[in-house]
Amino acid sequence: MALDTRALADLAAHDDFISRHNGPRSEDVAAMLAVLGEHDFAGLLDKTIPADIRLGRELALEAPKGERETLSYLKSLAKRNKVFKSYIGMGYYDTLMPAVITRNVLENPGWYTAYTPYQPEISQGRLEALLNFQQVIIDFTGMELANASLLDEATAAAEAMALCARANKKARSCNAFFAASDLLPQTLDVLRTRAAYLGFELIIDRPERIQEHQVFGALFGYPAEQGEIHDLRALIELAHAQEAMACVSADLMSLALLEAPGRFKADVVLGNSQRFGVPMGFGGPHAAYFAVSDALKRSIPGRVIGVSRDSQGNQALRMAMQTREQHIRREKATSNICTAQALLANLAGFYAVYHGAEGITRIASRIHRLTHLLAEGLAAKGVTRVNRHYFDTLTVEGLEVEAVRGRALAAGINLRYREDRRIGISLDETTTAQDLQALFDVLLGAEHGLGVAELDRLHRDGHGLPIQALRQSEFLTHPTFKRYRSETEMLRYLKRLENKDLSLAHAMIPLGSCTMKLNATTEMIPVTWPEFADIHPFAPRDQVSGYLQLIDELSHALLEVTGYDALSMQPNSGAQGEYAGLVAIRRYQAAQDQGHRDVCLIPSSAHGTNPASAAMAQMKVVVVECDSLGNIDIDDLRAKAEQHAERLSAIMLTYPSTHGVFEARVREACEIVHAQGGQVYIDGANMNAQVGLCRPGDFGGDVSHLNLHKTFCIPHGGGGPGMGPIGVKAHLAPYLPNHAVTPLEGIEPDSHAVSAAAYGSASILPISWAYIKMMGARGLREATELAILNANYIAKRLDGHFEVLYKGESGRVAHECIIDVRPLKAISGVSEEDIAKRLIDYGFHAPTMSFPVAGTLMIEPTESESRYELDRFCDAMIAIREEISRVESGEWPRDDNPLVNAPHTQRDLSGEWSHPYSRDTACFPSAATRMAKFWPAVNRVDNVFGDRNLVCSCAPIDAYRD
Ligand SMILES: *Cc1c(COP(=O)(O)O)cnc(C)c1O
Repeated sequence: MALDTRALADLAAHDDFISRHNGPRSEDVAAMLAVLGEHDFAGLLDKTIPADIRLGRELALEAPKGERETLSYLKSLAKRNKVFKSYIGMGYYDTLMPAVITRNVLENPGWYTAYTPYQPEISQGRLEALLNFQQVIIDFTGMELANASLLDEATAAAEAMALCARANKKARSCNAFFAASDLLPQTLDVLRTRAAYLGFELIIDRPERIQEHQVFGALFGYPAEQGEIHDLRALIELAHAQEAMACVSADLMSLALLEAPGRFKADVVLGNSQRFGVPMGFGGPHAAYFAVSDALKRSIPGRVIGVSRDSQGNQALRMAMQTREQHIRREKATSNICTAQALLANLAGFYAVYHGAEGITRIASRIHRLTHLLAEGLAAKGVTRVNRHYFDTLTVEGLEVEAVRGRALAAGINLRYREDRRIGISLDETTTAQDLQALFDVLLGAEHGLGVAELDRLHRDGHGLPIQALRQSEFLTHPTFKRYRSETEMLRYLKRLENKDLSLAHAMIPLGSCTMKLNATTEMIPVTWPEFADIHPFAPRDQVSGYLQLIDELSHALLEVTGYDALSMQPNSGAQGEYAGLVAIRRYQAAQDQGHRDVCLIPSSAHGTNPASAAMAQMKVVVVECDSLGNIDIDDLRAKAEQHAERLSAIMLTYPSTHGVFEARVREACEIVHAQGGQVYIDGANMNAQVGLCRPGDFGGDVSHLNLHKTFCIPHGGGGPGMGPIGVKAHLAPYLPNHAVTPLEGIEPDSHAVSAAAYGSASILPISWAYIKMMGARGLREATELAILNANYIAKRLDGHFEVLYKGESGRVAHECIIDVRPLKAISGVSEEDIAKRLIDYGFHAPTMSFPVAGTLMIEPTESESRYELDRFCDAMIAIREEISRVESGEWPRDDNPLVNAPHTQRDLSGEWSHPYSRDTACFPSAATRMAKFWPAVNRVDNVFGDRNLVCSCAPIDAYRD
C-alpha cells in the first residue's frame, strides 16, 4: 500500500508544540500585520532589525520534536543518571518533600509562573509565604531580621563578607577577612573569587587561630565541614575582641538541636535551606538564607518582605526598602541580587509550616540519633573518628578506602571520599535503621557487621552534641506553624494563598524586560523526576552522565543561538552571569598584563544590575549618555572610550536596548570599544528579540549572559529560581568559573567559582533543553518574530491614546515598547503607578514601572500571548486612558477617582460608598471582569508606612484575632 506522505505530515503536525507555545494563530498574524501596514514578516523585520547584523540563515539545530517524543528522549537521558543513596553531605542532603507541597506548589503554575511581587496587591499569597520563610530563619538563627532568600550558600557567604566591609568601621583601616579553613570547600572557592575583586585579603586558617590575624570580619562553619561542632560562643568572642564582625554559616536542620547563633551574638548567620524539603537537584535551585542583627537591618543584601498596611488600614505585605532596590542605587547598590530563589524559599517555608517545631525537632533528633548509633558502632569496632562532636556528619580515618568504595558502589551508596583519605558520612531525614545496617556493612565489611537494634539499646541516652550548645530557645511558636498540620488544613492554606496571587494562569503579565512567556507543562514535568531531583552535585561523574549529556546538548544549542565558542552554566541568575562575565574579562586582561584596565562603560539606560555587577568586579563605572531617540550617543561613547583608553576594560551593552529598540549602530559601538583595547559585554536579557534573527557573538560581543528564566522558559517562580549561563568567545574560555570540588575541563585551575555548584541550578535545565528541542530552529525563529509582532501590534493599538517612546529609525519597536505617562500626569495628576493599580481592577498585572525611564510603563507581551489577550489588554489600557480624560476634564476630582483609588477589593462592594463613581465602575470596569473577576486581596499598599515601621516577621498573634 502506498503511503500518502502529506497525510503523514498532517499527523506529525498534531503534536506540533510550536503552535502551542505561540499565541497568535496564522489568521491573526495576517490581520495583525495588516494593522501595522505590512504585507509579511519580512517587511516588519527589515524595518526593525539592522540589515548588517541579520543572521541570514536558519540556526543549525535539530528539527523540532513533539511533546511526547521530547519527554521520552528526556526520560532516556534521565535513566542514565544513577540515583544512589547519598551520604556525601557537604551542604546537600536528601529530603522528603511533603507530597501536598510538591503537587500544590512546586508542580503548580499558580505558584511557579508568578513574578517577583512588585505589585503587592496581587501578590499577598507569596508575600505571606516568603514572610513565613523569613520567620523560620529568624527563629532558627535567633537573629532579628532575615531576607527572603539569596542564590546559594556560597554566594550568601560572599555577601556576608561584603556586608562586614560596608558595616564595620574597622574595614577602613584593615582589608582582611577571615574564613575558617573548615568551611565547605565550595564556599571557600566562591569567597576567593569575590575577595579578589573586592580587594580583600582572604585569610583561611583554623577557626581558633583568628586571634593570630587582624581582620574586619570572620566566617565560621557551624557545624564545620568535617562535622565538628565548635564552641561558637568562644569563636564569636574572639572575633568581637578585635572588633571584627562574626558571621556563621549554619546548617538549618542542626539548629533544631543546637542553640541559635544569635544567642552567641553572631552578626550574620547564613546557609542553605535545601534540606527543608527541597530536592538536591544536582546542585540547585535552593534558597540560601541570610539573617542579621538589628544593627545591620538596613544594609542587608537581597529582598526583604515587610509588613505594612493598605489604604483602608488593613494589614498588607510588601517588599520592604524598595527604594534601595538595585536599579535605583546602580553602582552604589549593596549587591547585584535581582532574581533570587523565591519559589524555593516558599517550599522551605511550607515544609516548616507543615512540620512545625515538634515535627522538625523530631526529624532532627532522628537524624542525630541514627548518627549517634553509627558513631558508637564504628567506635566499638575501633574506627577512628576525626570530629569529637557531631550532629549528622562523621569523618573517619584509617579505613581501606578502595575496599569501602567498592562495597559502597555495589550497594548503591555514595560516601564522601576526601583527598586526605578520610571518609565523610552525613545522614539525613531519609536515612532509616536498615540504611544504617547497610552503612555498617559497607564501612566495616559484612562479616564484621553490627546489630543496629542492639546498639540502640546500649546507647539509649547518649548523644554527640556539646552540652553547652544544646538548644534552649524556642522556635516556630507563631500560630502559622501550628495550624496547618493536617493535610486538609495544609491544602486549604496553600490554595488560599495561591488564590491571592495573579500568575500567568490568570492573565498576561506584560512586564517589560522580564519576558513572561509560556512555561509549558511538558517542559516542567521532568523537574520532579527522581533521576533529576535526587542527585547530589558532587556525585561521581559516571553516575550523572544523563545530566552531563543534557548540559552538553543545551550548551551547544545556546552557543549556536548566541554565536559564542564556550559556555558556563554556573551563574544562578542574570546578574550572577554579569559578574562571572566581567570577572572572566578581568582574568583575561590580567593574563595579558592588562590588569590595570578597570573602567567599565555603561549606558545611562542600563539595568541596575549592570553597574552593580561592575562595582562588585571592582570596576570604575563611566556612564555613556543616550540621545533623544533612546540610542547610545555614539559620539559620547567614542569620546569616553578615547578618554579612558588606557584603563578601558569593557562596555556593558543591552541589545536590543532597554529602550526596546534594535540600535542601528551596535556594530560600530562594539568596534569603538575594541579599538581601544576593551571587551564587549552584551547583556542577553533581551535575547527574546534576537533568537534566530541575529547573534551577539556575530556583531561584536565577547561575552553575554542569557536569562534562561526569561527567553528560555524557566518560570520566574515569584522571584526565582533563575539561570544566567554565560557564552564567551574562545579567548575568554579559560577564564570561565571553575569549581573546587568538581573541576571543569579547559578552564584555568585558579579561575575560582562564582556559585556553590559547578552547573548552578542544574535541575531546571531540562526546561530550557525541552523548549529548544520542541521548537527547533524554525520554532525559535518564529517565536522571536511573533514576539516582535506582538510588541509592535500593542504599540500600534495604543498609539494615539498614549505616547510611545523610542521607536527605531523606521518607527518600529523590538519586542517591547515604552509608553510615556509623564504628559498625562502633567494634565491629570494620574501617575504610572495609578495606571498600574487600575490595571489590576481590569484583571491584569502592570507592565514594568519607571524602568528604564521614570514615569513610563514598559510593555513586553512575548510571543505566547494570543491576539485575544493582546486586544483585551489594549482595550483595558484604552479604557483607562478614557478614565484619565474624565479626570483631566474635571468630571472626577483629582484626589477621588477610580485611578487614584485603585485597586478596589471585594470589601469595596459593601459598606459606605461616597465616591463620585459607582461600585460597578470601580470593580467591574470591563465585560471580561463581569464574566470572571480576579480580586486583589488588599487595597493600595502604603509603601512609606512600611519602610518607616520596618516589621519583617510574621504579624503578632493579635493580628489573627477578630
Ligand atoms: C532581568 C535583567 C537582568 C538581571 O537578571 P536577573 O536574572 O534578574 O539577575 C539584567 N539585565 C536586564 C536588561 C534584565 O532585564
